[in-house]
Amino acid sequence: MIRVGQGIDVHQFADARPLILGGVRISDTGGLSGHSDADAVLHAVTDALLGAAGAGDIGQYFPSDDSRWKDADSTIFLREAKRILDEMDAEIGNVDVTIIAQTPKLAPFRDAIQASIARLLDLPAGHVNVKATTTDHLGFIGRSEGICAMAIVSISIS
Ligand code: MG
Repeated sequence: MIRVGQGIDVHQFADARPLILGGVRISDTGGLSGHSDADAVLHAVTDALLGAAGAGDIGQYFPSDDSRWKDADSTIFLREAKRILDEMDAEIGNVDVTIIAQTPKLAPFRDAIQASIARLLDLPAGHVNVKATTTDHLGFIGRSEGICAMAIVSISIS
């Protein structure tokens, strides 16, 4: 049986933190605010995996009012979603991510983010695709107030 899941996440910029997307440190400042490390990309992929599994959402497992997850490394969240899939004997087919950001320019980091997600999910590199786009200066993203990440995944359960 093939199943799909989608995830979306938005975080606003907060200067005094590193920017981490897809588990990759993009810059030392100009990061995103949030309870955890605010890695919107990994949060979107985590939610997509949980969606495909029919296993709820990231907030159920890692509530933002739980001090354990303060400044947490979001790879923990992704790995928990992967563990849930492993337990179901589900195999991840592919992961497709779109990052919507006016700034910074993410094209130079695309390959590294792709490789990072593939590594975290034990997938061959070609099974993960990452795209970056802008909103052509429209809206909160266009004003560089925050970043949006969207992910879709397919899984197969035998
Ligand atoms: Mg988030």
